[in-house]
Amino acid sequence: MLTALVLCLLSTVAMSTDEQPMPASKVPLRLLTIPTQIYSTVVNAKEGSTGWMFFLILEAADEGAITASELTLTYLSSGKPVRTETLGATALLAVDKTNYPPARLTGTAPTQPTFWPHAFRIHASVPAALGVDALEAKLRIAAGSKKTKVVQATIPIRTYEQKTRLNFPFRGKGIVSQGGAFEAGHRNRSGLYAIDAIGLTDTYAPVIQGNDAIQDYAGWGRTIIAPAAGKVVQVRNDRPDQPVDGVSDPTFFAPEYPDGGDPGNSVVIDHGNGEFSLLAHLRKGSVRVRVGDAVTQGQAIALLGNSGDTTGPHIHYQLQDGPRWEFANALPVQFGNVRQTSKGSYFEAK
Ligand SMILES: [Zn+2]
Repeated sequence: MLTALVLCLLSTVAMSTDEQPMPASKVPLRLLTIPTQIYSTVVNAKEGSTGWMFFLILEAADEGAITASELTLTYLSSGKPVRTETLGATALLAVDKTNYPPARLTGTAPTQPTFWPHAFRIHASVPAALGVDALEAKLRIAAGSKKTKVVQATIPIRTYEQKTRLNFPFRGKGIVSQGGAFEAGHRNRSGLYAIDAIGLTDTYAPVIQGNDAIQDYAGWGRTIIAPAAGKVVQVRNDRPDQPVDGVSDPTFFAPEYPDGGDPGNSVVIDHGNGEFSLLAHLRKGSVRVRVGDAVTQGQAIALLGNSGDTTGPHIHYQLQDGPRWEFANALPVQFGNVRQTSKGSYFEAK
């Protein structure tokens, strides 16, 4: 179910206020975020709240130990501070994923030595009425015996306006079995708002008969359709379906995903406006479009399957801002014909 953590670059304005200069380098000490663009999300579990999740990464030129002692996050609305949170050293340690490889930004190693000694997972939710549109981050650090210094960045937080009118990727009855990061679901860079959906029978049952074979699932083999018109830019069609219900067996993962997060057979559609649909875990051999094909909304493109990192037949859908999910940012998504897509929602897609 695409649970791997994947990372990437920034759109932040970074600077540092020196108290003691760090070693000279071509790679400036700076803060960046992954995803590189942060969007605010309605937090269903908290009335009237909006929130965001991202990694705040300290980038440095060398491997020298840098300790982080304090992070101050100031939320801004039209440039005015409306809320401030401070995390001390212990709190920072609790959300720190050290040693992220910077190659995860684009898939290729940086051209000069670059290190990410700290990557803090930031979760926040605030009253939507505060109108937060930026976040100022100030990280106090120290290297060796030098005095502390503060590295600072101002990070825009935007409200996303979806451009493509999307329909659900299959027709009929179903249930959203997993949601995005705000529902403790998908949390990788491009999948923050991803959904998994299982097909159901006309009486909303998940299985047709029995309960111990993937072929018993009501959704197994259901036609997957293009959510909107576009051009096919990625296809994979040769991965085996996981054979055992409830088991995501790593021996069925593609070699490039030994640790999971394998989308299996998949199709990426470029909608021509900076939005791309990823449809994953498709049935082996069922993909009937090729790279370069133009597709129309509702066109059959594959069958629902169980390939990749998955514990049962379902469709994984996400909207992203680039063709490759490993290096794209997640985009919030809404469907025209299925309005409620939070985890556990039953629906009928016409
Ligand atoms: Zn998924």
